[in-house]
Amino acid sequence: MESSNLGFPRIGAQREWKKALENHWAGKLEENDLIAEMKQLRLESWRQQQEAGLSRIPVGDFTCYDHMLDMAVMFGLVPRRFGHGEGPVPLHTYFAMARGDGENAACEMTKWFNTNYHYIVPEWEKDTEPVLLENRPLEAYREAKKCLGIEGKPVLIGPYTFTKLSKGFPSEKLPTILEQLTPLYAQILIELECEGVQWVQLDEPALVLPHSQEEHEMVAAVYEKLNQAAPGIRIMLQTYFGSLEHYKRTLSFPVAGIGLDFQAGREENLKSLSQHGFPEEKVLGIGILDGRNIWRADLLQELEFLQDEWTQQAACSGWWIQPSCSLLHIPLSVKQETELPSVLKHSLSFAEEKLEEIVLLTHALVEGAEKFSEKLAASHSALEELAHSPWRTRKDVQEATDRITDQDTRRLAPYSERKTIQAQRLTLPLFPTTTIGSLPQSDEVRRNRRAWKQGKQSDESYREFIQQEIRKWIHVQEEIGLDVLVHGEFERTDMVEYFGEKLEGFVVTRQGWVQSYGSRCVKPPILFGDVVYRKPMTLKEVVYAQSLTSKPVKGMLTGPITILNWSFVREDLPRPQVARQIALALREEVKQLEESGISVIQMDEPALREGLPLKAKERDAYLEWAVAAFRLATAGAHPATQVHTHMCYSEFHDILDAIQELDADVISIETSRSHGDLIQAFEEVHYEREIGPGVYDIHSPRIPNREEMTRLMHRALRVLNPSQLWVNPDCGLKTRTREEAVSSLRNLVEAARQLRKEHAEIAQK
Ligand code: GLN
Ligand code: ZN
Repeated sequence: MESSNLGFPRIGAQREWKKALENHWAGKLEENDLIAEMKQLRLESWRQQQEAGLSRIPVGDFTCYDHMLDMAVMFGLVPRRFGHGEGPVPLHTYFAMARGDGENAACEMTKWFNTNYHYIVPEWEKDTEPVLLENRPLEAYREAKKCLGIEGKPVLIGPYTFTKLSKGFPSEKLPTILEQLTPLYAQILIELECEGVQWVQLDEPALVLPHSQEEHEMVAAVYEKLNQAAPGIRIMLQTYFGSLEHYKRTLSFPVAGIGLDFQAGREENLKSLSQHGFPEEKVLGIGILDGRNIWRADLLQELEFLQDEWTQQAACSGWWIQPSCSLLHIPLSVKQETELPSVLKHSLSFAEEKLEEIVLLTHALVEGAEKFSEKLAASHSALEELAHSPWRTRKDVQEATDRITDQDTRRLAPYSERKTIQAQRLTLPLFPTTTIGSLPQSDEVRRNRRAWKQGKQSDESYREFIQQEIRKWIHVQEEIGLDVLVHGEFERTDMVEYFGEKLEGFVVTRQGWVQSYGSRCVKPPILFGDVVYRKPMTLKEVVYAQSLTSKPVKGMLTGPITILNWSFVREDLPRPQVARQIALALREEVKQLEESGISVIQMDEPALREGLPLKAKERDAYLEWAVAAFRLATAGAHPATQVHTHMCYSEFHDILDAIQELDADVISIETSRSHGDLIQAFEEVHYEREIGPGVYDIHSPRIPNREEMTRLMHRALRVLNPSQLWVNPDCGLKTRTREEAVSSLRNLVEAARQLRKEHAEIAQK
């Protein structure tokens, strides 16, 4: 029996990681200093795991940007445009791939399974020959051993998952790519073996995705080869985010251990275990503590679960008690949360606390529960106390959700009628231009917000500052010539956190940061009680912005599914029910905006796709309640109100039907980083509403020119009508500088003008 971890947050207690990276990019921190700072953070995370008493500490999961990108550069998968020669990829090229530079667009970025973590998609080009340029896991292993005496467990993304998540080749070529990569993995393992490494963790979350028997055999063959190459090394084949597919066949893979997720895949994995048992000679990695949520575990209950009858089936050579997945997806430590109500605080468990829980559970299993009864009982009673707190159940809220009817999810007029009414009201040109909502959050904006939050700035002067910012940017947008304006979201740190601050039933943490992409972190609010609408949340700023211009200003709201998916949510209520509670609150806000004269309302749902279950059979049910929640939130809008929605950084092909079902009048959707792949999908699906395919990548500091944006629109025009198309960036501009945003938007407006001109010429002919 051992206590083990799969991966640890990299950002540091005060987000030192983020700050170091951003200083480096801004030219304020030399590369050497960055490297030194990164090392400190890495050592600190190992030290924490060591002090917690964990026996299997992961090494190699740390990264300077993204762990998939680390793998790609290790294999020399650097797209030609970055001009990399030979040898290990230098840091500046690594960052260029992640963020783009000068002429070169960044590599595609997309969401890591069903999480809000984004990885850089490995890009294969014609004739790409992968080579092993360095052995990063080995370096990490050596460093942990040398600096802290840790016998680390190197972690790598496994060959199947790495290949599955790569792009640049048709799916038939998967076997070839795998074949090319296998010797490289083998080489890594051989070197680790020579070094005396005992265990290596190969992450294969792709094995929980539905895949064919044939494909599974291919994976088996790869593992055969790895085992032949380095028979002395013990591989933990680690799965997570759901139950392992083809369970029985996997049991005979030549690996020393298999890690299963007993949170996301508990039921199915248990079923497999009881049906097929587990090999005596293998180690079972029991992912029992939820790596995706922040609630403390009821350890008494978990202990009981572990001692239950299924354990007979799983009588193997050993257990590793571990989290269900890497702890990357939760914040670092509850200790910093000094302002939470104590009932709540006692019920939470972030990464550090999860480690304690793992170690405690392991000890209790080995030495007997009696010895730890007090601590075990404490976890149970903390959760009980929360369950009975008055926040948990609000009768009025539950009654309101009970009253919801189908009628509430249908708009008063069908789309075809709304389209005409809205066109008359808004009088927009062809190819209308707009942005996604947020405008650059300058240091000044952040400084003011911070001062206000710390009570150092009065409400009055903060409001004035925000208004001044809105004024400034309304003028900028008018001057650039955009058609539908935004107020800029300067009052919001984050699109979900902001609503978490305003709605009852949520709390926001002080330091509960989680990495989202690159240096960007988010602070998901904690949804612990029934959701209550207190008062208007967004009105003041939008209405003020609208008072300054004759162009329409969009009311900006975050949708119910995104609020749900980007919060840490209570687990005592079914998610659809929680979604309905949030939707009702938003519905009220829509009404308020309308009554104040706002004619366009955007409700962002960037997390809709991300929440899609990985298992095909669960998808329809999810989409059904998710779409219903969005509709409940928006359908109260008058037919003359144009409802927009926005989505980004996901695969959308497979949910286009659901996107139609949302019944939004306009959707803006990311297509720039995937270079227009989505557009193709419209060849197959008939889409009749309006759509703004994002024409440039806002995650990159690069300024796109007019031509590349028109090019993307021309592609869209092959499958969509001119009257359906909007021109907009692919997401909010909050992380860009003022100069970057203004220059890019000027080019964007130019692109729209050119398209109008071209269209007028065609119309004349
Ligand atoms: N309205 C939000 C913004 O512009 C949308 C952000 C997102 O999709 N992630 O920032
Ligand atoms: Zn977006």
